[in-house]
Amino acid sequence: MPVNTITPPGSTIGILGGGQLGRMIALAGARLGYRSIIYSPEADAIAGQVSAGLIQGSYDDEAALARFAAQADVITYEFENVPEQAVAECERHRPVRPGIKPIHFAQHRLREKAFFRQAGIGTADYQPIGSEADLAAATALPGILKTCTEGYDGKGQARVTTRDGLKAAWDRLGRRECILEALVDFQCEISAIVARGLDGTTRCFPIGLNHHRDGILRTTTVPSGLPETVLARAEQLGVQLALSLDLVGLVALEMFVTRDGRVLANEMAPRPHNSGHWTIDACATSQFEQLVRAICGLPLGAVDVLAPSRMENLIGDEADGWLRIVADPTARLHLYGKAKVRPGRKMGHVTYVGSWDPSPPNP
Ligand code: AMP
Repeated sequence: MPVNTITPPGSTIGILGGGQLGRMIALAGARLGYRSIIYSPEADAIAGQVSAGLIQGSYDDEAALARFAAQADVITYEFENVPEQAVAECERHRPVRPGIKPIHFAQHRLREKAFFRQAGIGTADYQPIGSEADLAAATALPGILKTCTEGYDGKGQARVTTRDGLKAAWDRLGRRECILEALVDFQCEISAIVARGLDGTTRCFPIGLNHHRDGILRTTTVPSGLPETVLARAEQLGVQLALSLDLVGLVALEMFVTRDGRVLANEMAPRPHNSGHWTIDACATSQFEQLVRAICGLPLGAVDVLAPSRMENLIGDEADGWLRIVADPTARLHLYGKAKVRPGRKMGHVTYVGSWDPSPPNP
């Protein structure tokens, strides 16, 4: 690998977004000797607590974005809803990895599904819902109606079984542009997190088994215990996605495993993912370090599992149990430094390493 493509330790990584993912990217970068600068609309963004600097600005403030980019050697983003224009503005000054293409598709559920299909990655049946005519033509029932943009953690979604129910749900969602996805009768949910380096090398983390409740990820378990054929297929789809996106960085692909063993894509995120947090404590390289390696042109790290683990999110007041958790020798506690507890807000996570109760949590 030619040295001039490397952004060496001592350089500054710019991170668009100031949440927990940005915070954990900055921490991983710091371990390798990088400084981080955060761009966030919030002056007290939690990623700023562990970074060399923070520039406060809105995502349409070109001058502030330019000031931010000028202080960075390479730039990444920690959430896929960063406006394309903000990334374009940064790209005028510095390389942004993974760039505009992945967010263009990840920001919009219909575009995303079409991209999966084009890349040869199977999905549930789906239809656009944006007019009365679309409602009348809908056949993907029972299904889940989702807004095309700005939905996350189960927000902006409704389960529907009948056409009348669909119409009522679309009204409740403000008659916005939506996608109706056929309900998948899945045996489980999994995710592949794939890194692609500047030299085109790809590496997939071991596939995690995910449990969601109320649309929010609750736990990820590795090893997943799933058959080799399913794991190999999931990894293949993840790599296929990273290659189709021409991405340098990280992409997470969330998938359903159907009862007859097929693997269908649900959604992607071109950034570190909640289902990869276990890698910090139980993998040879964490997903955050892997992202830093990829965008800085370093060789990708090994992805060997060091120990069985289960990551549990600490949501809302669950983080109040921190004292019990730190007293548990199998627990690795991560708190995100958020000042305000709100129901449904991800306050931290804990990874149980080495020995944990193998029974899945109550769904
Ligand atoms: P999403 O925001 O699309 O990741 O959806 C959140 C959660 O809702 C998923 O992790 C699944 O548990 C469930 N879900 C979403 N889409 C479907 C679907 N088409 N069929 C069955 N369950 C779904």
